[in-house]
Amino acid sequence: MATHYEASSTVETTFPFECACGFSGEGSAVGEGYGQSQSGGLFEDHHAESKALDDAEGKAWADAISSVELAPCPSCGQRDGAKWRAWIQSRLLPSLGWGILGGVLGTVGLFLMRQEMDSYPLVVGAASFMTVTALVLGHQVARKRTRSAGVIITAR
Ligand SMILES: [Zn+2]
Repeated sequence: MATHYEASSTVETTFPFECACGFSGEGSAVGEGYGQSQSGGLFEDHHAESKALDDAEGKAWADAISSVELAPCPSCGQRDGAKWRAWIQSRLLPSLGWGILGGVLGTVGLFLMRQEMDSYPLVVGAASFMTVTALVLGHQVARKRTRSAGVIITAR
């Protein structure tokens, strides 16, 4: 019997912050993470519950640390462009996954509604793929921008 475990975690941490302008300090941020795991199958997994919590805690830490890294510098107001690009790239793959799901649903849904063999459902599927990917990624970037802007950075 498979059991599904879910866990969420919130951490608050202080992390060193450095900027290309020479400013150095530290920032405090709150991070949130959500984890899940599955037990069951052939072997009973007694660690499934703690795995979900470990997963959630790991993501919460990564969320808090990246919020500090991506925060605007209190001295010059700049954000670290290279770190932003790396962060967006790390979010791209999961967003593409949602985009593919949206594209498949759009194609199949339209085909079922119209029951016609032409290329129109594929066009709509491609459009929904791009729309969903952009929406998911855009939402995450906007959320990260807001959260990182709220990070309090103090000079050392
Ligand atoms: Zn700076």
